[in-house]
Amino acid sequence: MSKGKLIIFSAPSGSGKTTIVKHLLQHPELNLEFSISATTREARGEEKDGVNYYFLSLDTFKQHIKNGDFVEWEEVYRDNFYGTLKTEVERIWAKGKNVIFDIDVAGGLRIKRKFPEETLAVFVKPPSIDELKIRLKKRKTESEDKINMRIAKASVELATAPQFDTIIKNYDLNTAKQEAYDLVADFTGIKKGNQ
Ligand code: 5GP
Repeated sequence: MSKGKLIIFSAPSGSGKTTIVKHLLQHPELNLEFSISATTREARGEEKDGVNYYFLSLDTFKQHIKNGDFVEWEEVYRDNFYGTLKTEVERIWAKGKNVIFDIDVAGGLRIKRKFPEETLAVFVKPPSIDELKIRLKKRKTESEDKINMRIAKASVELATAPQFDTIIKNYDLNTAKQEAYDLVADFTGIKKGNQ
């Protein structure tokens, strides 16, 4: 199977990486397909199994760990496991497409280490921890307790930014989207446009 590229967007929760990844997926010329992660957390709102995540039981997830089925996996928040299945990357490469990931910082760096040649690892930086808190509260998808957990993790994650190939500062969403487009266009070898 010929290898495509691996495009990783990692960031503290609430930094806007999901919005940026969704924007990039709207551009067919980039030839991207979203890597659907496996997780043991419950589906939120409109999320669908096999679209946003593969929602697995803890037992099934642990069996995959035992079998060595993951490219990387992690217990991201207490009792919540997340991981990228090898079959997911193979599925997308088999279509001749590039894989785009929306994953946490540690997972992103692990993939970059495993596939240094194929990977572009982008860190999306929020304006500040205070702004992150405001964004997470506005999203209204997590309890106060969970928001605090995400904020604590964000402070640690910000320190890893220099290990990424590049950093996008998400102070203004449209600027960040354009920067992300240009980076991915360059990396995948397509001509830059005004997106
Ligand atoms: P959420 O619960 O908000 O969907 O995701 C929580 C965190 O887990 C986010 O930072 C998300 O990017 C990360 N995440 C999602 N999928 C994966 C994965 O496959 N591996 C790792 N390491 N983190 C992931």
